[in-house]
Amino acid sequence: MSPPDTLALDLEGTLISNAMSCFPRPGLRAFLDFAALHFPRIVLFTAVAEHRVRPILDVLAGEGDVPAWMAGIEIIGWSGEVKDLGCIPRACLSSTLLVDDLESYVHPDQRAQWIAIEPFSAPYPDTDRELDRVAAVLRHRLQGALGQM
Ligand SMILES: [Mg+2]
Repeated sequence: MSPPDTLALDLEGTLISNAMSCFPRPGLRAFLDFAALHFPRIVLFTAVAEHRVRPILDVLAGEGDVPAWMAGIEIIGWSGEVKDLGCIPRACLSSTLLVDDLESYVHPDQRAQWIAIEPFSAPYPDTDRELDRVAAVLRHRLQGALGQM
């Protein structure tokens, strides 16, 4: 198993509420800081069109809800029923992980790459700790991969 080096993040229901209300999930900034420390490459893999995503990221970065680098994050272009990690340019499938709240978007052959997160949904409780939990899961995956080297 190659150590994970590419982290693909869903947007709606994972990092924020949705593209309309754009509530940042509790712990978002800390999660992204953690991710940037441990993954050389972080991409956004979302069903929301890039021309809608960019202004959302600009606002979140302006408010300090996400690190400044998020405003320039690579957004994966894709089409189809599922988020095929093969759509990420130059990424090695076995070292790529996807954090997504919707199982239906996960490619059936790529379930091992999926880190599930509970949907961030109404009433958007500020007691939500899913991003903290997922950071711990990612840490575990990274350590597990290193232990096998
Ligand atoms: Mg989602």
